[in-house]
Amino acid sequence: MISGPVAPRATGRRRPAPDARSLRGLPLRPLLLVLVVEAAAVTAVGTGIVATTAPTRTEVLLCGLLVLVAAAHTELSVGAERLRRRIAETRYINMTSVWTFAAALLLPPGLATVVVAVVYLHLYLRVARPSGTPPHRQVYSAATVLLAVHTVAGLLALVDGRTGALATPQNAALVLGALVAYTAVNTLLVVSVLRLTAPGSRFLAILLGGDIGLELATLSIGGLVAVVLANTSPWFALLAVLPLLVVEQTTLVRQLEAQVDTDAKTGLLNPAAWRWRSRQMLERDARTDRAAAVLILDLDHFKAVNDRHGHLAGDDVLQAVADVLTAEVRDHDLAGRFGGEEFVVTLGGMRADDDPAARAREVAERIRRGVRALEVDTTTAGRVAGLSVSVGVATTPDHGSDLDGLLAAADAALYEAKRAGRDRVAVRRPAPPPVGDPATPPFGLSYGT
Ligand code: GH3
Ligand code: MG
Ligand code: MG
Repeated sequence: MISGPVAPRATGRRRPAPDARSLRGLPLRPLLLVLVVEAAAVTAVGTGIVATTAPTRTEVLLCGLLVLVAAAHTELSVGAERLRRRIAETRYINMTSVWTFAAALLLPPGLATVVVAVVYLHLYLRVARPSGTPPHRQVYSAATVLLAVHTVAGLLALVDGRTGALATPQNAALVLGALVAYTAVNTLLVVSVLRLTAPGSRFLAILLGGDIGLELATLSIGGLVAVVLANTSPWFALLAVLPLLVVEQTTLVRQLEAQVDTDAKTGLLNPAAWRWRSRQMLERDARTDRAAAVLILDLDHFKAVNDRHGHLAGDDVLQAVADVLTAEVRDHDLAGRFGGEEFVVTLGGMRADDDPAARAREVAERIRRGVRALEVDTTTAGRVAGLSVSVGVATTPDHGSDLDGLLAAADAALYEAKRAGRDRVAVRRPAPPPVGDPATPPFGLSYGT
């Protein structure tokens, strides 16, 4: 299903996202993970420092150089990064791992720790704090990076490759292995805590929503920087800064594009994006002799939900209904919030000879039952249940292949579903023949509950 950047799975019971602004606001399981990871990071740093022999002068100079270039990089990208951090839907991936990964490859663990500590403190002061990120999140991010760095250090120690050894060709495999180990540790820990703090979310959706490609690209540049630093003049590290700034700008544009398409309250498509993509889908289906359907959904007596439980609880209900839509349609279908408590879905790519109206009714029925079964644990008003939704359905080619025609037909069906008693699906059938047919319900509609 195509909707906003995160697609959490709906469950029968939905809990509101916890207040993750403070550590104490975290539920027990993510809190335990955070504490274990931070304790492990402290232990890894302690053991790394104990195991580190006195660094050479070159290593100390390299450490200083990496800190300086990282600081320059952060300063040059402050504007874009603050914005990226603020609008990040799931995971915010900062690109300083270029320098922390290079440090992991080139420096003894004690000095690599210094690079991570300085880079993350600087990032906190210049990017995270001004964007409203609570300090405990930055501490957790730094802890995951430290663990990733020390995993790489352990790997290098196992293979006996340290500074300078990177020059030899066989170490290409070592750099790639280190990249995989770094990504695995860092990504798994960050995605796990996000998954635990958002009940009902999916691990894979968070992983892919967080732009794993950007993360791997950043680390690849870090690997190249390390190889260059180990073999040539340290000043070549500066050549990495401009490409990083350009990648940051293009990533920001992509994030802004995604935000423009998204309904902020539910994460579904907003009306303009839904219409635009639906038109494209209908044109494609018409060209390939496929059928499509449009569903309009309107929550029943939603005003009463607001009146009884308050608007904030009403918003939690809207999010829970959006989760049901997300869960019940296929990946390429389009789910949007039309406005207020009205939703729209376009089902595309259906077989024209397989009774598309019946298939669309099945989907609409699944959604209707999903909403009926919802028990929403709201942030402000306890559990809200007993919800229902009415759905109007229209399909191609019976109502043409034009979006406005389909919308009008689905809207008429919705109106009839409301009139017939709500909590039901009405499918717009082709207009009845001129002579009365007792099997055809009035208005060319058929109902189901
Ligand atoms: P019906 O079964 O006929 O659809 O009744 P209804 O009460 O759902 O319909 P009505 O159109 O009278 O009320 C819609 C309500 O939806 C009124 C409005 O306060 C509420 N609403 C619209 N947008 C939002 C929103 O973003 N958040 C919340 N909490 N409520 C909203
Ligand atoms: Mg309405
Ligand atoms: Mg309504």
